[in-house]
Amino acid sequence: MSILIRPELLYLDGAFRPGRAIRIGEDGRIEAIVASEAASDNVIDWPGKALLPGFVNIHSHSFQRLIRGKAESRALSGRDFWSWRGTMYHAAARLDPQQVYDVARMAFLEMLLAGTTTVGEFHYLHTAPDGRPYDDPNLLAKQVIAAAQSVGIRIVLLRCAYLRSGFRLPPDPGQTRFFETQDAFLANTEALVREASAQANSVHIGVAPHSIRAVPLNDLREIAAWARERRLPLHMHMAEQVAENEACLQEYGATPVALLGEAGLLGPDWTAIHAIHITPEEIAMLADAGATIGSCPTTERNLGDGILAADAVLRSGIRIAFGSDSQAQIDPLEDARELDYHLRLVHQQRVMLDQIGEQGIAVRLFDCATRNGARSLALPGEALQPGACADLFTVDLRDVSIAGHSAGDLLPLIIFGMNRTAIRDVAVNGRLIVRDAKHALQDDIISRYSEVHAEVWRDAGAGPR
Ligand SMILES: [Zn+2]
Repeated sequence: MSILIRPELLYLDGAFRPGRAIRIGEDGRIEAIVASEAASDNVIDWPGKALLPGFVNIHSHSFQRLIRGKAESRALSGRDFWSWRGTMYHAAARLDPQQVYDVARMAFLEMLLAGTTTVGEFHYLHTAPDGRPYDDPNLLAKQVIAAAQSVGIRIVLLRCAYLRSGFRLPPDPGQTRFFETQDAFLANTEALVREASAQANSVHIGVAPHSIRAVPLNDLREIAAWARERRLPLHMHMAEQVAENEACLQEYGATPVALLGEAGLLGPDWTAIHAIHITPEEIAMLADAGATIGSCPTTERNLGDGILAADAVLRSGIRIAFGSDSQAQIDPLEDARELDYHLRLVHQQRVMLDQIGEQGIAVRLFDCATRNGARSLALPGEALQPGACADLFTVDLRDVSIAGHSAGDLLPLIIFGMNRTAIRDVAVNGRLIVRDAKHALQDDIISRYSEVHAEVWRDAGAGPR
């Protein structure tokens, strides 16, 4: 039986509209947008709430939820990205398959509570701690997928190729669990694609060459061609760190985006994660290719990576989507507002991303957090419209952070001022998973996660090594 949901306000085509309802079919898809008075035997009334399409988080490493709070000391985890990475490797080295599942459930729970209905999980934990493949080489990927299914979030598992530590570098023991040969990567990803097709509506697969540091250009060509034959989205870390650009320059005589642009590897199915340290010429290359930039501002500011030139990027026509990346925070609205706030601080001006291509900033940032993410992950559903999967969330219009609005200012109020406490209900594929800001499995997920946290950090003394 279909269900009619009647919120006070419905977000449609960039504006909130009263007097509208959505009808959701048994298959979890939106059948129609109708007047609130439409007849139905099965009605959910949400007075005092606005209903919006769910957020899409395109770049997550779920296991890194474990290092939140563990790397905020110079004495213990150093002063830069590269020493932070040591703390991250400490966690990565210790997790058994059950713990990978438990930690992923925790990260995905928090995403759902933040209104995120789809996660792109950039997955590079492949082998046992000693580097040997599990009997099923996709065991850990499947644990992450099972975690997503347990909490009810839609997942695109971006299976990561990690072939070496870097140019003229010996294998780093901290990366032992990430390595596969090129042949193993392709065979294992092929097997995962085959198995995921059985759950085609909630589980999807993509391909993620980790970085030009970890995947040499010739291998990258082969991986990209392989992914394109299968129409799988391609994601890669690019230009997050100056040192990464310098190493690429040393090996190939070009920085990562320029190298891939000249090699003809960029395209509309390509998402460059971070793309912070890029030149105007490289911005033009990404724009010409129709590529997306996956920006992760809450992580990038936590790691001191740098600031994406989002104004120049958006003016060039490139789409930006958001990722929670290291899980320093899980809050897509914080990512959205930081994209502009960082530029305000740099340029000592306000509202830098407003009226680019005549688009208002709030709609622009909301699109980055929703439809641009869906496109980056090669998903069809991107908004509340007939035929789309009913992935949505509500906000309480009486929450202290957003109470009181005028017509037209609700979206900027939500983007720039709303606390996560205002998010009350979340549905994925028409199934209500969060009710009144609580997930049915929440207590169990938190308990299990707390146990894993204690186990992983027990041998680390007061903090990470
Ligand atoms: Zn990342």
